[in-house]
Amino acid sequence: MDCLFCKIIAGEIPSTKVYEDEQVYAFRDINPMAPVHVLIIPKLHLASANEITPENAAVVAHIFQVIPQIAAAEGLTGGYRVITNCGPDACQSVRHLHFHLLGGCQMSEKMV
Ligand code: 5GP
Ligand code: ZN
Repeated sequence: MDCLFCKIIAGEIPSTKVYEDEQVYAFRDINPMAPVHVLIIPKLHLASANEITPENAAVVAHIFQVIPQIAAAEGLTGGYRVITNCGPDACQSVRHLHFHLLGGCQMSEKMV
């Protein structure tokens, strides 16, 4: 499958790993929008949040269990923001489900 993030999981494209287990891979965004900008992805290829179903939702729950561990390891004691862009209106650019973990600064109240 010609998917950038599947290639990153497979090690075919280099990345800076911050966390990995049997279900999840997390790595630093190549173009960080905050002092801490980590992408957290399921190893299972799902194109976006729009493909989450009762059959695969456990991996998403697992990601949200892992996020506090990554946030703590990154020193995000002041809090953080988790974002997933889904589809063209949200400017999703990589069609493999990913959660942006952003922190390390005071963020704007504006969401869009
Ligand atoms: P999206 O716009 O789909 O929500 O987010 C995709 C993210 O992937 C962007 O923040 C972009 O900087 C990041 N990205 C794109 N290509 C690469 C890459 O090759 N390596 C890494 N580490 N991040 C990437
Ligand atoms: Zn993929």
